[in-house]
Amino acid sequence: MKRILGRAAAHSDECLLSYLIRVSEQNGFKHVGHLLHHAGLNWKNNRAPVHQILSGEFDVTPFLRALELPEHRSKIFPLHQSFLRIIDTPYLIVKFPKICPDCLDELGYCKYEWGLLPMLACTKHRRMLIDVSPSTGSRLGWYRQHLKRFDGEHACIKPSTILARPNAVLQSQYIDSLISGQRVEREIPAVLQGLSFREALSLIHFIAHYQLRLQGGSFNPVAMQNNDLGQCYQNVWSELQGWPDSFYALLSQYIDKPMSNRGVGGLNKHYRDLYERLYRQQENIGIARIKSEFDRYIETYWPGVLEPERITRIQLSTTNRNIISKKDAARILGSRLGRLSKLVQQNRLAPVVFKGKAHYLRDQVEALATVIASNWTMAEACGALQLTRYKLKQLLDAGIIPAIQKPDILNRDWVIDRTRTLVLIDELRRKSRNSAPPSGAVSMARLHRQGYSIVRLVLGMQSGELEYGCVVNTEKPESFRQFVCFKTNM
Ligand SMILES: [Zn+2]
Repeated sequence: MKRILGRAAAHSDECLLSYLIRVSEQNGFKHVGHLLHHAGLNWKNNRAPVHQILSGEFDVTPFLRALELPEHRSKIFPLHQSFLRIIDTPYLIVKFPKICPDCLDELGYCKYEWGLLPMLACTKHRRMLIDVSPSTGSRLGWYRQHLKRFDGEHACIKPSTILARPNAVLQSQYIDSLISGQRVEREIPAVLQGLSFREALSLIHFIAHYQLRLQGGSFNPVAMQNNDLGQCYQNVWSELQGWPDSFYALLSQYIDKPMSNRGVGGLNKHYRDLYERLYRQQENIGIARIKSEFDRYIETYWPGVLEPERITRIQLSTTNRNIISKKDAARILGSRLGRLSKLVQQNRLAPVVFKGKAHYLRDQVEALATVIASNWTMAEACGALQLTRYKLKQLLDAGIIPAIQKPDILNRDWVIDRTRTLVLIDELRRKSRNSAPPSGAVSMARLHRQGYSIVRLVLGMQSGELEYGCVVNTEKPESFRQFVCFKTNM
């Protein structure tokens, strides 16, 4: 048994560390480390596992017993326990203490809620909690000698002279209500309603993380001073009040601020990273709410940004990006760079403007390339149909052979509709005679010499004005040369 002189009583809502500091102060120890050392905790340099004491992971019961102090457990313990690894936020407990000097004056002890990161302000006195000395700028410590004083200062800690921002108080009230189970959901953003403490805090931290990431920073609330943290939470709070439009705005800002200098690769990485996290954490209802808005945004504004297989299966190592550069798009299409902007003018490709430059969606470009590849160029059509360029051009101009693309200001080349041309050849074949050719039948060349243009010829074949035979060439099944022995019916 270790002797101490004073044994203060603990309060039910008192922070366990506050209690230890009070007992330490009461018995003239330099700080809690010395008190616990006296109780038998043999830690180097009289340190103590402060964070684990707060979280409840370190059981101080034997040391309280050794000092003949009443049992007092950390109230943060059950909260800490309710947070799951991976799917919830890892940030819950403060690294440095923060206090409300007014409450401390009235109560004589520190409330355990002040040990939670999102507790920014005193809900009763409506002032920000104090964690930094206004005169020296140093942080309040757990190893302080006096509960109500910064080390090295004689005066008690004074409350902040300015009132906390309404949202800081509102957030603190909200966190308070989540802990106590008394819901005050009237004023809180709709997206937070009905969430548990861990779900709400995960949602808040998720947004904070991605807001700061946008500015090139990272969200490390544990190291932040309460006022700075308050600013972060304030930004999140406004975002949640404008939900989900504000979230869409946040997502679209990533377009100008990709994750790396790799341009569009960095943008894809951003979205993949977001998706990855949302996907992993979707068992957390707070995170699931973000995910559903994320999915909606991607579906509406960036349908190509995530490859379809990514929606159901996650592959981090994939290099196959869906947003591709102009150069890549031109390579897939086998065309010049200048051609791309013309395809855009024709609404055949939708550009994705990223960092002021047009980019393209791989699936769309590939689909267009497939259309072009499965149809004919002028030369291919001449070869297959065994027509001169001049005759083919006449048929195209007359609309008898259908074109997918005609040369104009926006196009240099013809793209000839192969499927519909084959239908035409089939139709002509079906209309050919089944019997032996009559006497007086002439060749196609002869008809041309008689004044039949190729256009008049094909129209005549279609209308029945011309009767003809068909000798299919298996090497060239589309050839016009299969049509022979013409005779006019006029
Ligand atoms: Zn207070």
